[in-house]
Amino acid sequence: MKQKNAALVCFSGGQDSTTCLFWAKKHFARVEAVCFTYGQKHSLEIKIARKIADKAQVSFHLLDVSLLGQLAPNSLTDASIPIDTEKPEESYPNTFVPGRNMVFLTFAAVMARNKGIFHLVTGVSEADYSGYSDCRDTFIRSLNVTLNLAMDEQFVIHTPLMNWDKKAVWQLSDELGAFDLVRNQTLTCYNGIPADGCGACPACKLRQEGLESYLQTKNS
Ligand code: ZN
Repeated sequence: MKQKNAALVCFSGGQDSTTCLFWAKKHFARVEAVCFTYGQKHSLEIKIARKIADKAQVSFHLLDVSLLGQLAPNSLTDASIPIDTEKPEESYPNTFVPGRNMVFLTFAAVMARNKGIFHLVTGVSEADYSGYSDCRDTFIRSLNVTLNLAMDEQFVIHTPLMNWDKKAVWQLSDELGAFDLVRNQTLTCYNGIPADGCGACPACKLRQEGLESYLQTKNS
């Protein structure tokens, strides 16, 4: 049976997808989360995601798509590849996992359809510095059409963070009453350190700059 007021969130236990989880809880009566394992170096990521989903009282599903990491080794899955600290000119940093969001959203749609769920939520953002092609609005709209055609259904892919930078994501988590949980329990760091992280990797820097900027605005 189709569940009109239900959503499935692509969830990794990081700042963005955790904010999306709470956004979904505000907008849908029933929310489930799907977390993907694709050979990440940091298995802690999955433990953290499960713990946050439990706290949010959301059903948690784990899907193994490790073939993705095997097909295209990258610095998130291969310990021998050091993480790019700068974005190379005219290409993506080696934290880019080709096809990742397409694979995640496609499997999420198959899983959701089986549950009668047609709202999918993902925390991709065009405002993110790396400019990954599979985080752009054009791609999401295109995939939405493709999924509808592929399964003869009417999916809606929600991207609540699409145009927002990290500062705005912090603000949204605060408005959703999830600021402390996002700050203290999520894992964004490329070196696998939860909360404020290592402070030195690109993901930590971005998160920290956004946080400082948000706190400045809030306290002024
Ligand atoms: Zn870090």
